[in-house]
Amino acid sequence: MKLSDRMTRIGTETAFEVLARARELETLGKHIIHLEIGEPDFATPGHIVQAAKEALDAGWTHYGPTQGYPELREAIAAYVSRTRGISVDPLQVCVVPGGKPIIFYTVLALIEPGDEVIYPNPGFPIYESMIRFAGGVPIPIPLVEERGFSLDLNMFREKLGPRTKLVILNSPHNPTGGVIPEQDLKEMAHMLLETDAAVLSDEIYSRIYYGAPPVSISRYPGMTERTVILDGFSKTYAMTGWRIGYGVMPGRLVDAVNKLMVNSNSCTASFTQRAALAALTGPQDDVERMVGEFRRRRDAVCAGLNSIPGIRCALPQGAFYAFPNITETGMKSKEIADRLLVEAGVATLSGASFGAYGEGYLRLSYANSLENLMEAVERIRRFLSR
Ligand code: PLP
Repeated sequence: MKLSDRMTRIGTETAFEVLARARELETLGKHIIHLEIGEPDFATPGHIVQAAKEALDAGWTHYGPTQGYPELREAIAAYVSRTRGISVDPLQVCVVPGGKPIIFYTVLALIEPGDEVIYPNPGFPIYESMIRFAGGVPIPIPLVEERGFSLDLNMFREKLGPRTKLVILNSPHNPTGGVIPEQDLKEMAHMLLETDAAVLSDEIYSRIYYGAPPVSISRYPGMTERTVILDGFSKTYAMTGWRIGYGVMPGRLVDAVNKLMVNSNSCTASFTQRAALAALTGPQDDVERMVGEFRRRRDAVCAGLNSIPGIRCALPQGAFYAFPNITETGMKSKEIADRLLVEAGVATLSGASFGAYGEGYLRLSYANSLENLMEAVERIRRFLSR
C-alpha cells in the first residue's frame, strides 16, 4: 500500500511516544515518574460525570447537529463573551471532539500551498505538523525566556506581511507556561490590522493561570472578525478523554468547519455535550481547587529545580508545565531527557521536541502528586551530580 505524499509532511506529538517508552520500561520492572503527559491528574468532577450518566439513561445516544446542540452553543457563547469581553453569537460556536480538531479544521480551511503561517516556537507540535500537512510555509517565531516566554516581537514584526495567511498564538502556553502580556497582544493586534492575516488563538489553558487572567487577542478592535478562539473542556475540567472542545469563529469559517466535521465526525458525541453543558453551567469549585493545587506544585517544583546546579527555571504563569533551562548542564535537551528516563526513571520531554528554539530546555508537566514531583526533583539532582 503506497501512502499519499501528504503523509510525509504530517508530524506527531512526542509526548505519546515517550509515554509508550516509559510504559515499556515499567513492564521491565523500572519505576518511572511520569512528567511527560499534558493532562490533569484529577478525576473529572462528580457532577459532570453524573450529567453524562443521566444523559445516557435519557437516550442522548444518537447523532446530533453537526455544529453542536444549540443549548451548549448558547452556554459557550455566553461564557466566551463574559470571559473574553467580546460579543459572541451561538451561531459562531462550533462544538468538536476536543480542542485539536479546531487546529486541524482551521488550517485545512484557510491554508493554500505556499501560504505563510506564523506560530510560536517552541510550541504545540501539532501547529507545525498541520501547517506542513496543508502545504503551508511554517514561519516559527522564537519565544524569549527573559520576556516570560512571550514572542520575540521584533521577529514577529519582521515576518508578518502580505504572505501571512494565519498567525497562531497560544496563551497560556504549552510547553513554557508563559502568558502573553496585554501590551504584547495590543501591539500584535495593531500590526495584524495592517495585514489580511487571520488569527488562531489557542486558549485551551485559559482557566489555568497564576497571576492576572490571560487576555484574548480577540478583544481588541477589529480582531474578533479575524480570530478563531480555540478552547474546550479537556484541561479546565480534567476531561481529556471525553473528547470535547470548541471554536468560536467568523461566520464563513463556521460553514467550512461544519463541512469538515460532516466529512469526518458527523457530530460530537451527544452525551458528552450534556456533560460539557453541566461543566460550564454548574459549580466551578473543582476548577478552583485544581488550579490551587497546580499553583502549590508549580512553586515547589520550580524552587526544587532552581536549587539544582546547572538548572534555571522561570516561574510559569499558566498551564501546568515547567520549562527549565538546562544549557549549563552541557547536555542537549534530547540527551538529558533520554538519560533521565532510562537512568533516573523520570519521564520528561525534550524542549527541542517542541521546535528548534526549544533546544536547551526540558518540559516537565506538574500534573502529578507533590510527593512524586519532589521525588523527581531529587532524582534529577542525583543524576546531574553524578
Ligand atoms: N492546544 C494545546 C496548546 C494543547 O496543549 C492541547 C493538548 O495538549 C490541545 C490544544 C488539545 O486539546 P484537546 O485534548 O482538547 O484536543
